[in-house]
Amino acid sequence: MTLPPDFPATTPVRPSGCPGLLRIVQAMDGGICRVKLAGGLITAQQAEAVADVAHRYASGVIEATNRSNLQIRGVGTAHQALIEPLLAVGLGPANAASDDVRNLMLSPTAGIDPQQVIDTWPLARQILGSLESTPRFAELSAKFAVQLDGGEALAMREHHHDLWLCAFECNGQPLLAFGLAGCPAQDAALGSVPVEHGHELVMTVLTLFLELARPEHTRMRHLFKERAITDFFAQLAQRLSVAIGPAAAWPRATHSRQSPIGTYPQRETGQVYVGATLALGRLDAAQLSALAKIATRYGNGTLRFTPWQGVLVPHVRAEQAACVTQALHALGLLCDAQHPLTQMVACTGSSACIKGLADTKQDARRLASLISQPQPIHLTGCLRSCAAAHVAPVTLLAVAPGHYDLYLRDPQHAGFGVLRERNLTIEAAGAWLEARQRSNTHD
Ligand code: SF4
Repeated sequence: MTLPPDFPATTPVRPSGCPGLLRIVQAMDGGICRVKLAGGLITAQQAEAVADVAHRYASGVIEATNRSNLQIRGVGTAHQALIEPLLAVGLGPANAASDDVRNLMLSPTAGIDPQQVIDTWPLARQILGSLESTPRFAELSAKFAVQLDGGEALAMREHHHDLWLCAFECNGQPLLAFGLAGCPAQDAALGSVPVEHGHELVMTVLTLFLELARPEHTRMRHLFKERAITDFFAQLAQRLSVAIGPAAAWPRATHSRQSPIGTYPQRETGQVYVGATLALGRLDAAQLSALAKIATRYGNGTLRFTPWQGVLVPHVRAEQAACVTQALHALGLLCDAQHPLTQMVACTGSSACIKGLADTKQDARRLASLISQPQPIHLTGCLRSCAAAHVAPVTLLAVAPGHYDLYLRDPQHAGFGVLRERNLTIEAAGAWLEARQRSNTHD
């Protein structure tokens, strides 16, 4: 197996320190290799390959990221040996320069969701193909991201994207509402185009961004600090072959559902998908290999990772759903939505990140043992907030080993929100959160 053409990549316009498949970044626990999954989907064969190389050439720890990708931690020195089997099963980019630009988020239930307005897969494949095959798009930063929401019941609508598109129906016609430098849960749509012009819209927005942005503008929001969004919009409207329509009829969904745990119906009669959560976003090589076998035995041989660090086994016959849940539970995945860890996220923390001021993963487990109900809580080892792509309702920011400042999300306050308590121990944070939960319940 050979590496994609141009390996190693030529000097990028917007260099990145983020891990990629071909760019293994060092951490305290070894290298990190990020494996991008189109729409969070991975086949059983691919999952077995990831599990195998994670076991052979790394520590065996695999993380599900908040953009529905996987990353292998603790990679040793055998980089080529780790990468080549992943390329052989089709997990690589079309060419070395395009690994970073494969940032298109779909709903984890794209194509199978009973509520969807459109099946986003055909358009997503077209967009991904163009992202990888257009040399100019390799100038985009590794963080530049696009979201395509087909109107599914299950979608992450709070992560900020440089461009987001949401399908809706107006007078029987499927349209795509779209926005820039924001998210569908909080921001108004700028306009809409017919679905068949979705590819053209994405290509035109990206091309225009690259023409107007300087290299230090890695995200759309950086460009809008210097240039009015109305100006960008006017130029976009001039270039499109279709008039941008209104999006007043777009029924904005303001809240993302949590990652599904349990059994949910699919569009296909008699078929369901079964979901579970990975405790603090991690699984080991043996668990991923076992997941692949579950998908093959009970589903169609695919798995879908979610932006909430969960996993779905799709295309299961309804009468076999209980067996799948049992198998996922036996693997150590969280199958009870009342488990406090199901809504908790924690970054790598001081056990493997030099910037971490506390062992966030261990502290999260301790905190989970102190609270009686799941609450959306984010423990972060420093201000960089790697584990959460949007502000959580409660953030615990490490200030020293085992000690955290506590913030509550507030739209009036930037960053993590309002600082409510300083320098809490995990026990004190647990008591504070329990008391707050009780008072909220009694209101
Ligand atoms: S948030 Fe800070 S401590 Fe946590 S993984 Fe990121 S850089 Fe490291």
